[in-house]
Amino acid sequence: MNIDEIFDNTSFTIDREAHIVLNYEICTGCDNRGCVNSCPARCYTWSQEEQKMTFVHDGCLECGTCYVVCHKNAFTRWRYPRGGFGVAYRMT
Ligand code: SF4
Ligand code: SF4
Repeated sequence: MNIDEIFDNTSFTIDREAHIVLNYEICTGCDNRGCVNSCPARCYTWSQEEQKMTFVHDGCLECGTCYVVCHKNAFTRWRYPRGGFGVAYRMT
């Protein structure tokens, strides 16, 4: 199953309170930004022109990859969404 098929079988109940919060100053000084290429939901976007990281939690698949690959512990919050919110997979 590829990522597009996963999204076809996925729904989100978006919590306005982000479950992942970044310290953007740390991201600005990051030397590899592994999160950008490893997040399957493309929640992380780096603008070279603006030297600015943007993170959108809405489509987060709650895979945990960004938590593992971030070598600078840039998160002021990293947790799963509150009960009743977040991703719902329908694989059957
Ligand atoms: S790897 Fe960590 S510090 Fe680097 S850009 Fe991503 S979240 Fe920020
Ligand atoms: S938990 Fe997974 S899907 Fe969510 S932001 Fe991190 S890498 Fe992306």
